[in-house]
Amino acid sequence: MIGKLGGHDDTIVAIATAPGLGAIAVIRLSGKQAVAITDRLFPSKDLSAQATHTLHFGGLHFQGRLVDEVVVSLYRAPKSYTGEEVVEISCHGSPYIQQQIVEACIAEGARLARPGEFTQRAFLNGKLDLTQAESVADLIASNTAASHQTALQQMRGGFTRELHSLREQLIKFSALIELELDFSQEDVEFADRTALYELVNESLTEVSRLISSFKVGNVIKNGVNTAIIGRPNAGKSTLLNTLLNENRAIVSDIAGTTRDTIEEILNIGGILFRLIDTAGIRESNDAIESIGVQKSLEKMREAGIVVYLFDVSELTVDDLLEQIRAFDHEGLSYLLVGNKTDMLGTEVARAKFSFIPGIIFISARDHSQITELKDQLVHKVMGGAINTENTIITNVRHYAALQEVLSSLKGVKGGMDHGIPGDLLALDIRRCLHYLADIAGEVTNEDRLDYIFSKFCIGK
Ligand code: GDP
Repeated sequence: MIGKLGGHDDTIVAIATAPGLGAIAVIRLSGKQAVAITDRLFPSKDLSAQATHTLHFGGLHFQGRLVDEVVVSLYRAPKSYTGEEVVEISCHGSPYIQQQIVEACIAEGARLARPGEFTQRAFLNGKLDLTQAESVADLIASNTAASHQTALQQMRGGFTRELHSLREQLIKFSALIELELDFSQEDVEFADRTALYELVNESLTEVSRLISSFKVGNVIKNGVNTAIIGRPNAGKSTLLNTLLNENRAIVSDIAGTTRDTIEEILNIGGILFRLIDTAGIRESNDAIESIGVQKSLEKMREAGIVVYLFDVSELTVDDLLEQIRAFDHEGLSYLLVGNKTDMLGTEVARAKFSFIPGIIFISARDHSQITELKDQLVHKVMGGAINTENTIITNVRHYAALQEVLSSLKGVKGGMDHGIPGDLLALDIRRCLHYLADIAGEVTNEDRLDYIFSKFCIGK
């Protein structure tokens, strides 16, 4: 049976490397027949007699003729990525050769893999848990040092480990409480209430931390919309060019973006700052009033961070204070940047705005203090202390499940505060356990698994 989670006994095949021309390409097979199928195409050696983790060079033949000279890597079950028999055929990178080899494997009994099916099998065979499997997708899609780091950390199981120990302890308590229920006539307490209360409190802190890391995680994974705003002639275009010169990210390398929607992306400290409405900034020099007040407000609300640029000679302290009030009123996250310090002198500028904290003084034209500005941008969106060594949630599914965990933990805590009976307490603990298991993929139903894995690309 093929479809849903069926077809597990099939041997699957797919091109594992990027589509198109390359120096070499890898075709991957997984399943019971992987070695036998390859054996029929690769006459130079009896692969079924070879040890796991070995390489074999020779000709690959299909329909009586040589297709290519290839290297076959053997991974015998269960010591492979999927936990099954896995063969990887490295061939020359021509799309024609790749296609021929896939066809040859299909002719010998394999079927084409569905997106994510290799990783799905790894999950089903207990090689990875669901968060690790999902982080494989993130790792493949990661395009900055920071998103690479978080995906790698998760794939190694950082996040899972933390939740695992919470789960084990809760299981212990829930077993003890359920035991009490069996002895309900005798009014005994097996489960130490003080220890449970402590565990719940600690877990609340940890789960809350993970939940709040989602905001940072999202910034790392998807970047942050950034608006540079300010009066005409403040130096916005100049600053934009200065930043782009050093930090322009290659847009075509970033998944899910097109040149139409996102004009410019900066990669600063591994974070992608997506500059919104850069066209508006550039046009504003030609038609000074072209950005109406309304439009810039909309733009600012779209932004995760607003860079307010002003000319230190031109803007008055009162004007700046008024601007700050407006930002605060809108609840925006913003940086105040005083420009053209080369004209007034940094010290004079500092003195002028001395009682407004947090201003970064720069000269966009002279590239002065641009590093300071960049540091502050990263600091602002990362919320200060958090570094990517800590576990960070980047996945919406985990975020949603953790919120359920949080609310059931609150239920347990509230219940204990009010001295509710053990059977009701057990209910909240069970709910919490359910969502913890859900994160690791242990209770997830088949449709959701199919959905999660379908977001992978074929060959992964
Ligand atoms: P925009 O209207 O905010 O985009 O401002 P522009 O970037 O077009 O700059 C307006 C004028 O200010 C131009 O003549 C720039 O050369 C000048 N300018 C921009 N930055 C600086 C700076 O740091 N120092 C000085 N002296 N002039 C600057």
